[in-house]
Parts: sequence; C-alpha cells; structure tokens
Amino acid sequence: MKPSSWRWENTYARLPEAFFRRVRPTPVRAPRLVVFNRALCLELGLDPDAQDAAAWAQILSGNELPPGAEPIAQAYAGHQFGGFTFLGDGRAVILGEHLAPDGRRWDIALKGSGPTPFSRHGDGRAALGPMLREYLISEAMHALGIPTTRSLAVVATGEEVVRDRVLPGAVLTRVASSHIRVGTFQYFWARGEVEHVRLLADYTIARHFPELRNASNPYLAMLQATVATQARLVASWLAVGFIHGVMNTDNMSLAGETIDYGPCAFLDTYRPKAVFSSIDTMGRYAYANQPGIAAWNLARFAETLLPLLALDPEEARGMAQEEIENVIPAFTAAWQAQMAAKLGLIGKEEGDISLIEDWLHLLEASAADLTNAFRFLALDPRPAIAPFTHPQFAPWQQRWQARIHAQPGGEVAARKQMNACNPAVIPRNHLVEEALAAAEVGDLRPLHRLMEVVQTPFVEPADPRFQQPASEELQRTYRTFCGT
Ligand code: AMP
Ligand code: MG
Repeated sequence: MKPSSWRWENTYARLPEAFFRRVRPTPVRAPRLVVFNRALCLELGLDPDAQDAAAWAQILSGNELPPGAEPIAQAYAGHQFGGFTFLGDGRAVILGEHLAPDGRRWDIALKGSGPTPFSRHGDGRAALGPMLREYLISEAMHALGIPTTRSLAVVATGEEVVRDRVLPGAVLTRVASSHIRVGTFQYFWARGEVEHVRLLADYTIARHFPELRNASNPYLAMLQATVATQARLVASWLAVGFIHGVMNTDNMSLAGETIDYGPCAFLDTYRPKAVFSSIDTMGRYAYANQPGIAAWNLARFAETLLPLLALDPEEARGMAQEEIENVIPAFTAAWQAQMAAKLGLIGKEEGDISLIEDWLHLLEASAADLTNAFRFLALDPRPAIAPFTHPQFAPWQQRWQARIHAQPGGEVAARKQMNACNPAVIPRNHLVEEALAAAEVGDLRPLHRLMEVVQTPFVEPADPRFQQPASEELQRTYRTFCGT
C-alpha cells in the first residue's frame, strides 16, 4: 500500500508520558496473513489491493511500521473480579490513530505484538486460536448491530507460544474508536493524580462526547452519557445471549464498544445463570449478572471523577450516587425496548412488560434455545420444538396475538420487525470451536464458512446446521479461557 493512504493523527501520543510507554512491536519470524477483512479495510479508506498479502503481513505483524505510526503501550489499571490491579498493555501496542475518509478516528492496535514495560511475567504474545476467535466474534457482533471493536486481520507469526500446550503464535489487528477504559481513569485515580484524571476526562470528552464540551458540568454529562451507552450496550448483549465473561473495569470502554473477546460465549439454551468462563468460579459475570456488574463498574468510574464533579466532596458524592442509581433503570428501559422489538411489539402498551417476562419464563421453563425461540416465533407454521411445545405456550400466544393484532400493521408489521431484529444466526460456541480447531491444523474452510454466515445474521442460512444448538452435553461442559 502507498504510505499516503494511512492518515495518522496520534493525539493520545501527545498526552503526557505518564499515559503510555513508547515501545516498538517485536518483529516476528515468518508473518503470514491468515484472515484479512477487506470490507473494514475499505471502510478505513485503505486499498486492500495496493499491496500483496506478504506486504500486509509485514505491517500487520509489526515487522514494518507504516510511516506516521507512533507505537505506544497504554497505561491502565482495573478491577479484575473485584480486585484492583495496575495493568497496562502487556501484549499490545497502538500504532496510532488513523482518520478514515468519513472523518472517523480509529485506533489501530496490534495484539500479540511482543513484550512492553507492562508485560510483567507475560511473553507479550498471543496464540492463533484466541486471535481468530476475537476476529470472528467481534465481526459477528458488528454484523448484529452491537457496538464493538473491529478486527482487520490475523497474521500468523511463524513462531510458537508456550501456554499449557505449545501453540502457533499470531497477531490480531484491532480497530477501535479508542482504547480508553474505566481502568484508564482508575490508573491515575489510584495514584492520586487528579490533574491526570482531569486531562484524561477532557481528552475523552473531546474524542467521544464533543457535544458535551459546553455542558454546564461536562464531567457529570460524560458520566451520564457513559451510563446511557453502557446500559444500552449490555441490553444489546442480553438480547442476543452474549456473555462477555470478563467484565473487569479494564474491559469497559469509554467509546461504548464491546472490548476483549477472551472468554466470551453465547447462550444456546436460555439459562440466565449461565457462566462459561473457566476462571469465573463464582459466576460473577454470569449472563444475567451483567447489568449489575455494569453498574458496579460505572460506580468505580464515578469514583475517579469525584474531584471533578464538584468542589464540595459531599456534593460530588451525591451527584455520582444519583447517576449510579440510574444505571439499572436505564438498562431496564433499554432492555424492555429491545425485548419488545424482538417480540414484534410496536408502540408501548400496558401489559407489554408482563408479556416479555412471561415469554422469558416460558423459555427458561421449557429449556428453549434463545435465538431460535425468538426467530421461529415469527414463523408459520412453527417447528415442534421448545418453547412452542410447552403447555404454557398456547395461552401466552393468545395474549401475544391479541396484542400484535391490535397494533398498526398488525401481524405483518410484527413479523417484519421481528425478522429484522432476531438473528437467524449467531456464532454458536460449538461452531466457533469447530472452526478454530480446524484452523489450528491448517484448514481454514470451516472458519471462512462460519464468518460468511455470521456476517449476514438476519438472513436464513442455506445450511440449517448454523441454526442448530449444541447438544445438552456440549452446552453443559463448554468452557472458555482468557486467551493469554
Ligand atoms: P486481558 O485478559 O487480555 O484483558 O489481559 C489482562 C492484562 O494482562 C493486560 O494488562 C494484558 O496486557 C496482560 N496480558 C495478557 N496476556 C499477556 C501476555 N501473553 N503477555 C503479557 N501480558 C499479557
Ligand atoms: Mg482486556
């Protein structure tokens, strides 16, 4: 690619040195492009064909720096499973901020790019499987309409990484609106550096909330806006059965994007208490706990802002308290709106909430597949599977039909809306694992097939296998890992 097609404007690297460490990616032996996201490349205003795969692999492995890139490892901290730690990018560098033709600013980051001053005992590297997993699931989330970091490419390094087994190494190119986390604020807060918290807050407002710059209290306005975006984000996770798996405060992005796909998973059977992460032994990050955890994380965020909210500490505390008390109501409102849309309900009617709640109880009681229950509800006839075969379905269906028949557009409008917001395909855990296992031994076909269908999740797939839930046994024994 011609160097001129990147448009770097690295504002984060202009912040004080305390915010990051300058560090170059460690070159890799034999970079080879494994997957490449042409559509995203074009969105970024880069020409995928301006250079061949080998040249892309040189850049996206970190072996060659594009002119204008200024690689940094960001400093951050975070509560991991409730315990506070200083962290920082231990195996990633941000090359810089690229301006796309539409004016959007994107962090271009290499994950698995080698050790940094924040690596502690880690090797700074990543394994191919987890990087392909992040690529696949983040792009699936994007196609589902859920805010997320994106993935431009995965490059195999030609080197091995040693985990519990020896694995092929890889570098993922992550593209994000920014990498500012709740944990970034906590880093300066924990060090008692209020002026750095203020600087970061001003930077975040300028980058993500420019419309709030002239609010009477921009810091309070940023807190309010963050509560709103996180509430919406978590509601959209629940709507598709997504379990993030590691909602530590360093994995909550101020850009409002889903970030860190290490141990995430999707529900097949609707089980609100579901946990798949092997390290989440207490179920802290269970499916239905996610709104409460978001509230907890946002409270940690608010804590860092206290000195900025008001001069009087009591007053500041009261302001923060009020916003944090609003997280669950904001989430509930977003969740109800999304669930109503998924049931084809147009407008708001009395009784909608009990219709939603009774439907979900029915799914739970009948051990229904979440995705298929919503998708197939719009079918006529419906397949003879749960929840449609459950004795409580008929009475519920009567209420539902009465509700949608009474609305403008009736059943036709309802079905249309349902098909537009209930995916036919999600990246089901067993399909993801199957594709990754094949990729690890060099067969990329299953991965490409799965990528193709999850990119159009609202279209009925030609192969019904993509809609089939995993067996009970597989669902019960499925475990995810943090992917280090
Ligand atoms: P993550 O689980 O990816 O959110 O990572 C948590 C923290 O551990 C971050 O500070 C990472 O940069 C760091 N980390 C994860 N894996 C490695 C690794 N292989 N080498 C060095 N640091 C790592
Ligand atoms: Mg992380």
